[in-house]
Amino acid sequence: MKIEQLPKIFNPARPILQRLEKAGYEAYFVGGCVRDTLLGDDIHDIDIATSAYPKEVKSLFDHTVDTGIEHGTVMVLDNHHSYEITTFRTESGYQDYRRPDKVTFVRSLLEDLKRRDFTINALAMKENGEIIDEFNGLGDLKRQLIRAVGDPDTRFHEDALRMMRAVRFASRLNFKIDDATVKGISDNASLLSKIAVERIQVEMQKLLLGQNASAGLSVMLKTNLYKYCPGLADYKNELGQLVLSNRWPLDNPTQAWSTLAVALYLQSDELVKFLRSWKLSNKLIDDVKKVVPAVTSIKRRSFTREEMFEAGQDGLYNANRVAAIFNWNMMQSELDSAYQHLPLKYKKELAINGSDLLDAQVVKPGPEMGKLIHDLQVKVLYGKLPNNHEKLMEYVKQERGQQ
Ligand code: ATP
Ligand code: MG
Repeated sequence: MKIEQLPKIFNPARPILQRLEKAGYEAYFVGGCVRDTLLGDDIHDIDIATSAYPKEVKSLFDHTVDTGIEHGTVMVLDNHHSYEITTFRTESGYQDYRRPDKVTFVRSLLEDLKRRDFTINALAMKENGEIIDEFNGLGDLKRQLIRAVGDPDTRFHEDALRMMRAVRFASRLNFKIDDATVKGISDNASLLSKIAVERIQVEMQKLLLGQNASAGLSVMLKTNLYKYCPGLADYKNELGQLVLSNRWPLDNPTQAWSTLAVALYLQSDELVKFLRSWKLSNKLIDDVKKVVPAVTSIKRRSFTREEMFEAGQDGLYNANRVAAIFNWNMMQSELDSAYQHLPLKYKKELAINGSDLLDAQVVKPGPEMGKLIHDLQVKVLYGKLPNNHEKLMEYVKQERGQQ
């Protein structure tokens, strides 16, 4: 099969393949970019595989960076674009269920494709659009099927992360997972505990943001894979409820993790513990901590001004998206207009700040100052004080007995 018209994004990469071929090597586009081209989806990154060894790649291009040369990857900078070029390789060992003990460079494309996870990810494409399909990945794309390359049991033993990748592709592409591959996950689910949480987290987030997260989560439940993810083992029923939802209007990581937290009824300390167990960034944890209580308020259809202020505009938007999954959502315009009516919308808007208070010598830095500012925020929010510098200072001085 040959694709006549490649997406434009390939144009600047084609000369790189041509140069490798001219020098007598084989070179192909591989992995996600080939799959997504065939599906007509957006292409994120273009991966190139070649029979040339890293040293040979480096000798052919003027500007290269050794990004992962021990695994055979060289980055080539060409005409303001950069591409990762990886030498065909086989992997062996995998005694720890996650990384090969040994990577061997080979000259055979077939050997390289054999080590790839799923048939739809094991397609290669020549510079001219010709597709190389050794494992019937094209048939599986048509059937919308995620199927392990080779024996699923062996492949999940080699690298247990592939089980999470299977469910994330099922969600992202809205594909089914082939029966033997699902059985492979059931039989090997516990091996996921060998994998670093950060890598599981990446796949989980992609799953939650995919077009059929319910389907991905259902397979996790059916195969017990969820039991080996941080903080999920005790929540079979809650996850079972979540997968019944047929609306997933999620568009960012904050919404994704908030959805899980809301589904599991997590709050305050438990919530933070859960998010930390997934090793999420502090920024993401802070954002989710704002969204989760706002979802509860949306569900109740009642917000105090303080709750609305704490959530912030983004927090309210995210919370309403999450609420939609549970069918609790409000009209976004209603929320927006309530927020717009707040006398104070965000912390920096307060007409007095920490350094003003320090300059006026009414308070020392530390928790006392935090309390004072919070008190001012609440008073302004409820219309007890105007958001005016002089008036606020006057109030503070009076309160502190310095007038
Ligand atoms: P995405 O669009 O999310 O980037 P992708 O298919 O490009 O999807 P990557 O994680 O970027 O996924 O990996 C690129 C390719 O490398 C895959 O298509 C697959 O061929 C191979 N691959 C990646 N991870 C594994 C793995 N754990 N085991 C086997 N092959 C893998
Ligand atoms: Mg990719």
